[in-house]
Amino acid sequence: MKVELENLRKNFGATEVIRGVDMSVDSGEFVVFVGPSGCGKSTLLRLVAGLEEADGGEIRMNGARVNESPPVERGIAMVFQSYALYPHMTVHQNLSFGLRRPAGKDGAAQVEAAAKMLHLDPLLARLPRELSGGQRQRVAIGRAIVRKPNVFLFDEPLSNLDSALRGQMRLEIARLHRRLGATMIYVTHDQVEAMTLADRIVVLSGGKVEQIGKPLDLYENPANLFVASFLGSPQMNVMPCEDGGGGIARIPGGEMRTTRKLSPGKAANVGVRPEHVFVAAEGEDGLPGTIALAERLGADVFLHVDVPGGATIAARAPAETKSDAGDNVRLRFAEAHTHFFAADGAALTSKS
Ligand code: ADP
Ligand code: MG
Repeated sequence: MKVELENLRKNFGATEVIRGVDMSVDSGEFVVFVGPSGCGKSTLLRLVAGLEEADGGEIRMNGARVNESPPVERGIAMVFQSYALYPHMTVHQNLSFGLRRPAGKDGAAQVEAAAKMLHLDPLLARLPRELSGGQRQRVAIGRAIVRKPNVFLFDEPLSNLDSALRGQMRLEIARLHRRLGATMIYVTHDQVEAMTLADRIVVLSGGKVEQIGKPLDLYENPANLFVASFLGSPQMNVMPCEDGGGGIARIPGGEMRTTRKLSPGKAANVGVRPEHVFVAAEGEDGLPGTIALAERLGADVFLHVDVPGGATIAARAPAETKSDAGDNVRLRFAEAHTHFFAADGAALTSKS
């Protein structure tokens, strides 16, 4: 089922919460809406579901306007962060409750298939309170599957789970999507979920779309500072810079080469991800700084380096690195992987 949003708007009282969203989800596609808390993700999903009424624009499913259609006619199934299971019903009853019509033979087979897919068969007689958080979320997802919806809508379904379980459930949802080939719209504030699950990501802020694209395209070619900073952990390092002439950008305490067209006399920003920052070898040139913190994560070490001008730059170093807090180092940047942004945050893409 193809879903299209055109200039979609929603106000709560005088507050514009969704401010003209255009986008479409192809049939069978997994699209993730990601953005900080309060940016309008849930509202957008509820508009698609028909739980909120749009104040402007159009929602189409397979080309037909559905703005006026009640939720049941849209053929959607929604999975929430709070599992919203019926506490007095068993797992089997909760799953059956997803069926649109009273369960016949077909219904029983659907419940059985969903239970099997989600490894719930041994738990069918239990009540929700006899399940772990992950198991409860699986029941909620199973109930959605049983409905055989045209579109699955997920609103931060993993946010209540601890991080190990979140990783595991992420994998299961990805598997489920591959297996069902269904259209899925998934909302999260977690950029890792967005990067790993999405065919395409929609980055939202303040009720507007910042950028739409494939995860790695957004990571490598962010349209602006917001997207650049939102995707990636630790965040992209950002430093103020100005044109130094001759393909040089001046940064506080140093300079770097650029192929981007910087405007003389105008402030700009340069961004570089931690994996593209290196500690210079003995005697090599680089931006001087002092390590404030060395985060040793096992496979990686993140060095947080205080540099001139007050910025702290994160650098991803190999696990065996000996550098430690208090060390004076020089930083080098992979200049092919630097990003330049105008003062207003828009990426500078034209070459000098
Ligand atoms: P997100 O899911 O991205 O955290 P929401 O869509 O829940 O954001 O909310 C977006 C904005 O709309 C927030 O500022 C929130 O306070 C406001 N909002 C959401 N629902 C309502 C409502 N029913 N009445 C008034 N304001 C609301
Ligand atoms: Mg929300």
